[in-house]
This record gives sequence, C-alpha cells and structure tokens, in this order.
Amino acid sequence: MSGPVERMTLTHLQIPFKESCRGVGGEATIKDAILVTVETSDGLGLGECSPTTAALCEASDTLEECWSDLADRIAPRLLGRSFATVEEISDLAVTWKSAHASAIAGAETACWDALGQARRAPLAEMLGASSDQLGLKVEAGLAVGLYPTVVEMLKAIENHLAEGYRRLKIEIEPGRDVELVHAVRQHFGDIPLMVDARGAYTIANLDVFRELDEFDLLMIEQPMADDDLTGSAALQAELATPICLDESASSLELVGEAIERAACRIVSLKIQRVGGLGPALAMHDLCYQHGIVCWVGTTPELGIGQAHGIHLAALGNCRYPTDIGPSVRWFIDDYVSPDLEMAAPGILSVPSRPGLGYQMDHAKVRRYQVRQSEFTTRTSG
Ligand SMILES: [Mg+2]
Repeated sequence: MSGPVERMTLTHLQIPFKESCRGVGGEATIKDAILVTVETSDGLGLGECSPTTAALCEASDTLEECWSDLADRIAPRLLGRSFATVEEISDLAVTWKSAHASAIAGAETACWDALGQARRAPLAEMLGASSDQLGLKVEAGLAVGLYPTVVEMLKAIENHLAEGYRRLKIEIEPGRDVELVHAVRQHFGDIPLMVDARGAYTIANLDVFRELDEFDLLMIEQPMADDDLTGSAALQAELATPICLDESASSLELVGEAIERAACRIVSLKIQRVGGLGPALAMHDLCYQHGIVCWVGTTPELGIGQAHGIHLAALGNCRYPTDIGPSVRWFIDDYVSPDLEMAAPGILSVPSRPGLGYQMDHAKVRRYQVRQSEFTTRTSG
C-alpha cells in the first residue's frame, strides 16, 4: 500500500542531442521532457513525460500540451489518492483519459515507481517478468536515423556498433531504401538488421518491399501509414519478412484489430505512446496470446523514461533487442543516476532494486531545468 499522494512536481528539462537528429519534420538539436515526481509518505516515485521530438515525426502531442495536461487534468485527480495495486493505478489513470498519452505515461510510471518502493519490489517483477539467479538482462539494439549520404550513415553505424549492440535498425524513405540496405549488407555482412519506414509507403510500393524481402531483414517497421491496416495486411501476405507495427500500435483495441486482420507479426511497445506501463503490459499480453512477438521502442526518452522501458523489455514476450541504449547514445548528458550503461557489450541489466531502481541526479536536474511547478494537497484545495 502506498500512502496518499501528497505532492506532485513537474520539471521541464532540456538536454541537447549529441548530434542533431534528422526526421520527417526537419532537424532537432534539443530534447524536451518533463520529469514527474509523485511523493507519498512511503517515498518518491519518478516518471518521465517524453513526447517524441516534433522534428522527428508528426508528433501527436507537444510538450506544452502535456505540461497543461499534467498540471490541469492529472494533478487535481492524483493528489490525495492512494493505490495499493497496479490495477488501482490503472483505475486512477482511466480518470486522466482526456490527457495526451505521454502526459499520462509520465504520471502513471511515477505511481508505479512509488508503489514498487512501498512494496520493496522491482518494476520488472511487478510487471510479471521472471528472473533467474543471475538476474534479468535485456539486449540493446542500435538505431540510426537518415543521413544526407550513404557514407555518413555507414560511418555513424561503424562508430556505434563497436559498443556491442545486438542488432541494427536503419531508417528508410521512398527513394532511399533498397540502396541503404544494400550498402549496410555490403559493409556489415549478415548483421541482424531491420528497417523503419515510419509509415512513408503505400501498397503501390510493393515492388520496393519485394526487393527488401531478399535481404533477410529481422522485420520491416511501420511500412504504411498508422491507419492503413489494410495496406499493411496486404503487404504482410506478400512478404516472408515480418511486419512490425509501431505508430499503428497506439491502443489495445487497434493492436487487437491489427492482429485480427493479420496486418503484422511483431509489435513495438512504447510506454509514451500508449500511456504508461499498465497499457503497455496489456498490449504485450494480448500479443503473446496471439503469437505476436514484441520489443520495446523509445521516443527516445531521457534516462528515467528509458529506465522504465528496461523493466518492460524484461518481459518474456519481448524477444527482439530494444531501442533503449546507454545515456550517452543520444544526449550530451543525462539526469538519471546511475547513468544507463551497458553491463556487457550489447546488454543492459534490469535493476533488482525496489521500484524503478534509478534515481535522479539533483544537480543535473537543476542544471537542465527550464521551469518547475509543484502541486500539493494544500494548493489543490
Ligand atoms: Mg518506429
């Protein structure tokens, strides 16, 4: 049992990307996220609201929208409430459903951490991951975006692969697809490889996918627009390579529909997209029941957001490497403590400490904070 929530604090953090990231909406140099802390008499729970950087995709929620959601819709419905089980956290989160998914994820994951600490149980265990004596390990995969030239892409891959990642994911777009995959196969041989199309194709591009089908890819991520399950199902019927849904997998209902229509064989779980650990777990379980394999994607989040994903990635049906990586992969610095690091080449270990098992570095939170708001049972009346 966790005591009632006495205080919730929102901290807007900005940390520069190490190198500017290119996406469909242009270039991004700064990562924005909101650290959400939830305080009960048993301790402090940490969560992160980490919407996808707008330049990297057509973002469905902006940081400003999430900030008002957390301040106006979630804080008043969370303060003074207690939760003794993860089901009670889910019941509470349902009352926030008018908020954007990543805002809900920020508060919901903070509640999971608070409950884990009250119960002295690691989140992975609360999610149902089974551990052996050696503890839980998660395989990390390398993801790289689009680069202006093939040579720059190959260089970026070479720089990072030395860190031991267990698979490579490259981004493709119409006109820059078969050529990129061909170049990677030429330079890196039979490395476990997948592509992310970010919804940029239609079934009219079937010939491109027939060519990609010859490269022994682990999967093709989100080939069609997020609402084009018809196209995705038609494509899956033509290909040996599994299709993985990412943007389409935004709710349990939509994943159920995708499975029914045979629109994929793999699903990428994103805590930020689905509104927290509870909805991500439900999606994982539904996939498992239907023989659909999962793995954990990122937006990418800063350290606390990624650390929640490590616990999710420990689940048995998360059978492909995650996009979660060390703190230093994307950003010049991180506010999580300890830093996220590889425990062995390409391996992240899942903490066995209570709750999230990671703390915030207070000095770094002060260094990178843009603004902060605090809500207490007193201020909310
Ligand atoms: Mg994706």
